[in-house]
This record gives sequence, structure tokens and C-alpha cells, in this order.
Amino acid sequence: MISEDLFNEAKKFLPGGVNSPVRAYKPYPFFAERAEGSRIYDVDGNSYIDYCLAYGPLVLGHADQSIIGAVSKQLENGTAYGVPTENEIKLAKQVVRRVPCADMVRFMNSGTEATMSAIRLARAATGRKKIVKFEGSYHGAHDYVLVKSGSGAAGLPDSPGVPEDTTKNTVLAPFNDEEAVAKLIESEKDEIAAIIVEPVMGNIGCIPPKKGYLEFLRKITAENNIILIFDEVITGFRIAEGGAQEYFGVTPDLVTFGKILGGGFPMGALAGKRELMEMIAPSGNVYQAGTFNGNPVSIKAGLAMLKQLDSSFYTTMNSKGQKLRKGLEDVLENNGLNFHVAGLSSMFQIYFKEGDVLDYKDAKSADTQGFTAYFHKLLEGGIFLPPSQFECCFLSRAHSDEDLQITLENVDEALKVVKK
Ligand code: PMP
Repeated sequence: MISEDLFNEAKKFLPGGVNSPVRAYKPYPFFAERAEGSRIYDVDGNSYIDYCLAYGPLVLGHADQSIIGAVSKQLENGTAYGVPTENEIKLAKQVVRRVPCADMVRFMNSGTEATMSAIRLARAATGRKKIVKFEGSYHGAHDYVLVKSGSGAAGLPDSPGVPEDTTKNTVLAPFNDEEAVAKLIESEKDEIAAIIVEPVMGNIGCIPPKKGYLEFLRKITAENNIILIFDEVITGFRIAEGGAQEYFGVTPDLVTFGKILGGGFPMGALAGKRELMEMIAPSGNVYQAGTFNGNPVSIKAGLAMLKQLDSSFYTTMNSKGQKLRKGLEDVLENNGLNFHVAGLSSMFQIYFKEGDVLDYKDAKSADTQGFTAYFHKLLEGGIFLPPSQFECCFLSRAHSDEDLQITLENVDEALKVVKK
């Protein structure tokens, strides 16, 4: 069956025809057949250079041989045990070695679980209820954080079914605004358990922190005994060996991971300072559990992944990202457009607006219709981006110079259409 027919069939059995909302772009999404390296192939006979990369995990590209090899061996030895394995210790040691705030790790299955557990732990440790999150940040699909989220939920009000009793303890602040956070803390400091932040906002496009902003968050949280949580589900193992905390030189109390850490398999993790982590059951009484926690296949894939992510990997990825962003700026200029090219390391996005993008409000002023036209024109040309102005695009090791060249030529064409 072709994608269009599959989508019609899917809608009968899967809400909206998909298993996660952002995938259902109009008129219908292409259905994948297979993927390899920088390319994803659909059931209609098309291939695309992929900058969505499953929304971030595939930093080596699709179907990387080293991961396939490691996982194949594991599959033969069993796919779930429900008892501990030595590999869990090995992967935890890797995380601890790389990530400045990590003394201990709990592995789970998704970024959603990781942020939910981080917030529970912060509340338990402080005896306070409130958390601060930033407008447009996305920390997963659970109730505590589904307030003015980015990603597929950008612009939606709180989801029905989320009790007000839950979200009344979730306080919002604009990103990159020191005064707003200082004011909040001044009035509610005895009630705030944690500030949770994506150090680079990756679910409202791509918004890096202003110089000194993360340092400011670190200082004000430490002064007020508030736990600082970095949600590094995207930035973790993507922008530096030790993630954003290494990249920006700011160490939080807790960190959440997902995506890359699972080497392309389901994964989430919470890591942090020993005195906090030891509060987690069974060493402490803060409950966290999961049938598939520390799943041997995901752990093995994660080990195979991290093995390849050394400092030279990040140097290469950073320069690849720089090259592409510069190319995008040049193409925009050639078309007489002054749109903002955002990003760092292997993350990027074009905002369909002029001027800086520092927060949710700036991002939301972009021309989303223009972006959608650009997305479709690129898709026609064989380039697949995440289908929203408010997602971030990713590069992988598998993206070649030729891929980048083809992409820039297509962007040039697409922008000509958008300008009309
Ligand atoms: N935090 C961030 C920063 C994310 O980008 C995401 C997912 N895109 C999540 C949490 C949730 O992760 P998952 O989809 O694995 O539950």
C-alpha cells in the first residue's frame, strides 16, 4: 500500500493515524520502509536526507553497523531479564565519567519518565511542591509539565484530563529572562522545589541560552535551596561528551537523558548528585520503577553508541553544524531574506522571522505558514525535516558533504517558492 492509503487505514485503528501527534502532518505523512545512514526511504519509492532522525537519538545516522552488531548479539542472549546485568554498571560508569553532575544513574525507558522522576525526587528532597518551567519548553507528556509546552503541544492550552490541582504547582517563566525568575523566586522561594530547564530549548525550534543565563539559574537556585534540573534529553551526548553542562560549564543538581543514550532504542535516565540519587527506591523511599528499566538491548545499544562519541566526534559534528548553518545563511541572503538561523553544534533551525529568537514569544511570532510551505517543498525535493517550525533539526555523523550540498540547493529552491 502507498502512504496515503496506509494513513487512511491507520486512522481507523490509531488515533489520528499515528502514535505521537507531531508525526501526523497534512495531508498525510510518508510511511517508512527502511532507513540507512543519512537517508530514510518510504513505501512510495522515495528517499529523503533525514534531519529529523527520529527526533534526535540517531547521532550516528540510521542503522549504524556498530550498533546493529552489538544489539544482534544481545538479542540472541535475551531481550529482557528483570534482574540486574553488568552492562548496566558499565553504562552508568560511562555516564558518570562524562557528565559533571552525575554521581549515580537510574535507567528507565523514556524522557517523559525521566523528567517525571526528577521532579518527584526534587519535591521529596525539598519538601516543596512547586516547580518552575519555561514557556515553550517540553519535558515530556506527563501531567506536571504539560503547561505551555513546546513540540507538538506548542500553542495548545493544558491538555484536557490534566487536573488543575497538578498544574497549579507548575509555575511558568519566560526563557532567557533573569528578572522574571528572580521575581518569582523572591515571592515563592519557600514553595519552589525545582527549576527544570532545557539548557538549549529544542522544542520551540532551537533557542540557546543567553550568555550567563544558565550561570544565573545555577546561582539563584543554590542560594535558595532550589534544585536545578537540566533536561538534557536532546542536548545530552549531542553537543559535548558531557552534554550542555560541559558545553556551558554549568553543573545542575539533577539531569535527565533519553534519546541518544539508548543508541536508537527506548531509553530514559535520571542522574545527579549522590545525596539526591540515594533517595530513590530501594536505597531510599522515593518511588521509581519499571519492567523495562535498564533493558539489556537498550543498554547494549547505549554502550555501543557512547563508545563512538569521543571528543573528536564532537569536533567534527560542531564544524559540520557550523558549515550547514553558514550555508543556510548564505542561501537566505541570496534570496533577499533575513530570517534567523538558529542552532549550535549539530542542532539547527531556520525561524521564518527576522531578528533574534530568545524565548517562546519570539519563536511564536515566526511565519508558520511559510515554514510549512518550505517543509513541503523540501520534502518534494527529498529532504525531510521535522514537520514543524517548533521542532529542532539534527545532523548525524552519516550526513556527508554531498548531503549538505544537495540540501542547500533544495533550500534555495524552497525559499524561492516561499517568497512568492
Ligand atoms: N525532554 C525533552 C527536552 C524532550 O525533547 C523530550 C522529547 N522530545 C522529552 C523530554 C520526552 O522524551 P520522550 O519522548 O522520550 O518521553
